[in-house]
Amino acid sequence: MQTRLCRLHGQKDIRIETAQVTPPRAGEVLVQIAAGGICGSDLHYYQDGGFGPIRVKEPIVLGHEVAGTVREIGPDVTGLKPGDRVALNPSHPCGSCEYCASGLFQHCLHMRFFGSALRFPHEQGAFRDLMVVGATQCVLLKDSVTMAEAACAEPLAVCLHARSRAPDLQGRRVLITGAGPIGVLCTALAAEAGATEIVTTDLQDIPLNVAAKMGATRVINIATDAAELEAFSAKKGYFDVAFECSAAAPAIRSSINAVRPQGTIIQVGVTGDIPVPINTMVGKEISFLGSHRFHGEFAAAVALIGNRTIDLRPMITATYPLEDAVEAFEIAGDRSRAVKTQLSFETG
Ligand code: ZN
Repeated sequence: MQTRLCRLHGQKDIRIETAQVTPPRAGEVLVQIAAGGICGSDLHYYQDGGFGPIRVKEPIVLGHEVAGTVREIGPDVTGLKPGDRVALNPSHPCGSCEYCASGLFQHCLHMRFFGSALRFPHEQGAFRDLMVVGATQCVLLKDSVTMAEAACAEPLAVCLHARSRAPDLQGRRVLITGAGPIGVLCTALAAEAGATEIVTTDLQDIPLNVAAKMGATRVINIATDAAELEAFSAKKGYFDVAFECSAAAPAIRSSINAVRPQGTIIQVGVTGDIPVPINTMVGKEISFLGSHRFHGEFAAAVALIGNRTIDLRPMITATYPLEDAVEAFEIAGDRSRAVKTQLSFETG
């Protein structure tokens, strides 16, 4: 049996190739992938050959935001059968290192994560028609959920973890800087948590329109209306919590200025070294917290998508068949036109 796969050979060099599929072994299942979202990390691999110290050093199959249908089950697999529709959790911690032992699975020392160039040899990804995965990485979907929605479970899990790092948002004023997929999902989760004001910022109108549909009470285009955000910095700031999702230096600075004394900033976006106004952070007693990946939040994300508590259909701005992956990656990189770009696969 053969599968097509979307393999990156180097910067701007995506090739659709075929490979042999081996049958699932004990504890594994064969999944026919239906939908896959292009993530910022996939884009960085494609556009720049990596990000920060993480570089693509050998051909890598991209993709870690996928959903599909179980086609075959290996020996000893229980709880799954052919025909089951599933979201695939791309995260596979070892379960036995010191961090796994203490429940900090996202910090596993031996993490295997679909389509990641963090370690060498690289962990191969899920942009392919057929993929053998661990049965424990499959989370069952409700019939009513589309594969496209289910393929957003991974970024939603990232944002659920980010929200878990923040204080209770009920009745709070929340700032979200950056309205890409992570920013609009954080917007939706802030609304779901009962935040009374949610101001989402970006440099582009299309992602801001999506943010407005997903729960922002106000959106600000920083490219044209920067003064609207600056006004929140008066009297030592306005927001109780900020989710910084852009990793842009001006946005980080704006968040620090616009958060109230003893407020919290959750840094979700990642980037290289950036200067930050330490005096302001210290003087306002700001809690500046990182957020990294997720663990139990993946199943929680699938549940939230399943009953449309979080309706993420507005964020899926374009879908391309796998054979048009290059075009899909080009569009995904154009923030004036795209929020979440997805690939669709052979449904055979
Ligand atoms: Zn571990």
